[in-house]
Amino acid sequence: MKAAVVTDFNRPLEIQDRVIPLPAAHQVLVRMEASGLCHTDIHAAAGDWPVRPVPPFVPGHEGIGIVEDKGEGTGHIHVGDRVAIAWLAEACGHCDHCVSGWETLCEQQRNSGYSVDGCFSEYAVAHGDYVVRVPGVIDPLDAAPLTCAGVTTYKAVKVSGAGPGKRALISGIGGLGHLALQYARIAGAETVAVDITDDKLRLAHELGADHVIDARTQDVARQVRALGGADVAISLAVSNASLRAAYDALRRHGTLVLVALPADASLELPVFEHVLDGKTVTGSIVGTRQDLAEVFRLHRLGRTRVIREQRRLKQVNESIEDILAGRVTGRLVFDLR
Ligand SMILES: [Zn+2]
Ligand SMILES: [Zn+2]
Repeated sequence: MKAAVVTDFNRPLEIQDRVIPLPAAHQVLVRMEASGLCHTDIHAAAGDWPVRPVPPFVPGHEGIGIVEDKGEGTGHIHVGDRVAIAWLAEACGHCDHCVSGWETLCEQQRNSGYSVDGCFSEYAVAHGDYVVRVPGVIDPLDAAPLTCAGVTTYKAVKVSGAGPGKRALISGIGGLGHLALQYARIAGAETVAVDITDDKLRLAHELGADHVIDARTQDVARQVRALGGADVAISLAVSNASLRAAYDALRRHGTLVLVALPADASLELPVFEHVLDGKTVTGSIVGTRQDLAEVFRLHRLGRTRVIREQRRLKQVNESIEDILAGRVTGRLVFDLR
């Protein structure tokens, strides 16, 4: 089988021929149909973050495919099922986070495409308890971006408390932001979309944003405060300036949810203003299996639209360059069929 492999942090990915893995107990073997390219994969391949993966490894945690074989202890999954392989490859299942619905915070977790081989390959093995079934009517090329970009922003909107009567600022309308905007609208919030490229600003209009702000020419915090301020802000952009603007755009009692993970980003909080305004700053990391099942359900009901471009796996390196250069609207998905 073909796989895109990180052999070294400073080298392009290599397309290698590998032996199709055998599923061990509790594992399923998935013939991949589609795999999305997330910014996390780019950080993984570059070794950008404090905890680094160990090369050689296969990135990819937006994998969709068909179960072709399975090991013992996977009675709930059937050969032929379409499943999603997400960032949470497995968790311990018994710590306080796991048993309280916060498996995404498990300290023993393993992650697809980071601590275990991921989905940039024609086949992948995954833990049968942690794959999520994909409803048959969903196009695998749509399901892939929903598996990280979708569930991550869906969870962030939940965590933010966005709802009817609330104004939600979505900062960055790319692969994640275009979905965050849709989930905030589904939640019933008034939405403010911010970006710095024409095509993404146009997309925000198309997706029904109530207000659209061009951060190249407009002062985001001032514009949003003129509307009354943001009750919630979801930060998906990758600059310190955009983090600051999202924080400053909050109204009293507002909540900023940090989601994007630019390398070396930081946000200095003005303590006086933070206390007097009763603001909250919180982080949100991916979502649970249940969150992902809900994301698929919303898509099956026709409530969300996935904006994506499809590529072949052999284009992996140029695809990364295109994302880094901001040349991609929505999500890039490798068609592995
Ligand atoms: Zn991701
Ligand atoms: Zn755990």
